[in-house]
Amino acid sequence: MAGRQVVIVGAGQAGSDTAAALRAGGYDGHVVLVGDELPVPYQRPPLSKAYLAGKAGPGELELRPEDFYAAQDIERVSGDRVTSVDREASRVVLASGRALPYDRLVLATGARPRPLPVPGTGLAGVLSLRSLADADVLRRELSGAANLVVVGAGFIGMELAATATGLGVRTTVVEAGPRIMGRTVTPAVSGFLAAEHAERGVRILLGTEVTGLDGDREGHVRVVELNDGRRIAADVVVVGIGVLPAVDLAADAGLDVGDGVIVDASLRTSDPAVYAIGDCARFPTPYAPPASGLLRLESVQNASDQARCVAAALCGKPVPYTSVPWFWTEQYDLRVQMAGITGGHDRTVTVGDPAGRRFSVLCFRGDRLVGTESVNRPADHMITRRLLASDTPGPSPDEAARPDFDFKTWQANAATTRTAA
Ligand code: NAP
Repeated sequence: MAGRQVVIVGAGQAGSDTAAALRAGGYDGHVVLVGDELPVPYQRPPLSKAYLAGKAGPGELELRPEDFYAAQDIERVSGDRVTSVDREASRVVLASGRALPYDRLVLATGARPRPLPVPGTGLAGVLSLRSLADADVLRRELSGAANLVVVGAGFIGMELAATATGLGVRTTVVEAGPRIMGRTVTPAVSGFLAAEHAERGVRILLGTEVTGLDGDREGHVRVVELNDGRRIAADVVVVGIGVLPAVDLAADAGLDVGDGVIVDASLRTSDPAVYAIGDCARFPTPYAPPASGLLRLESVQNASDQARCVAAALCGKPVPYTSVPWFWTEQYDLRVQMAGITGGHDRTVTVGDPAGRRFSVLCFRGDRLVGTESVNRPADHMITRRLLASDTPGPSPDEAARPDFDFKTWQANAATTRTAA
């Protein structure tokens, strides 16, 4: 093989950021970015919010302008997909038949929506929301729709409920679990958000499962059947019950997989020439709950930071991946930010003003702050990120529980104490 060549499989946030970070870091070999979608790599977060609401156009979603890739000498292969990895020959084969040699391969294959295992999901108007193409179909379906049913009260479900309500579409969210966003936020934030949605007319059915979907004569969905026997009206159904990491390529190539492609602290798979990053990768991190030690994160932060980490390694400056996990969601005028991994906490303290819609929930494991969920309180979010990144102990639960506790004041005092010591 002539020269060095990195092939990046997947042109989402993780893939596009890797290509850009390689060039920014001075990598001078050939870089190929392969994606099966046609559009220029774009941001997904606005798909369920501003883009769906018609407040942002496709051009505003682009991660980088179209001419960036050529200008940076990044070969962008679009509308084609890698179908196999031949590790012995160090090359990938594309659906088009083209073969690409590599000396380093980066799997940034992402995740795909988990299918709803009930009859009727093939009806028109039954959708998932992951890609720009999905969002375009949903936009068309929602215009003129009276009733939207969202299955799953996770990020997609609740962001969509907020956007659709703003568009005047009556929305019902059907969630199998006991509360909304149960996988990502504490009961306090979950309950607060549920009340905000209910106030705006969103119907949330908890502990409820969809058993089937019924259509009209034209084959378009009209009814959602529930496990309690109810049949509710639906002109559009969106399934948002989570995602499955795209590990087929890695598994077929004989790499270690298990709820994601297993990587080490440098994001290398079981083959040192192959890396995996973003939604598809399961990696060791100090932020994982104690029992497992490994995490797979579905977030923009993780995709971007892992892209930079892999690029640094490929530029000859390897560093272990230790970034602080953080997430955000926007629903109505609420900006909810999560810093750290709060699963496995044993105590929470709410600070601020929930009635005024500005508060944070501090989560502790023992005496240690492990994460903060903030509603319209960005400073608390940023302070938590900084504390976690520097491995500096935060306030104790007892300090945080004092009626006059203010995170900014606490931080200023803590900094003064550290300087004096
Ligand atoms: P999600 O956030 O994992 O939420 C899925 C929800 O569906 C969970 O509450 C889950 O409950 C529930 N569920 C699972 N099976 C169900 C069933 N049969 N019936 C009803 N409810 C069911 O996933 P998502 O909302 O589908 O989002 C997809 C991906 O996009 C995720 O990777 C997410 O992180 C990403 N995303 C992120 C953002 C953001 O960061 N702001 C926004 C949109 C999308 P259990 O947990 O109990 O299974």
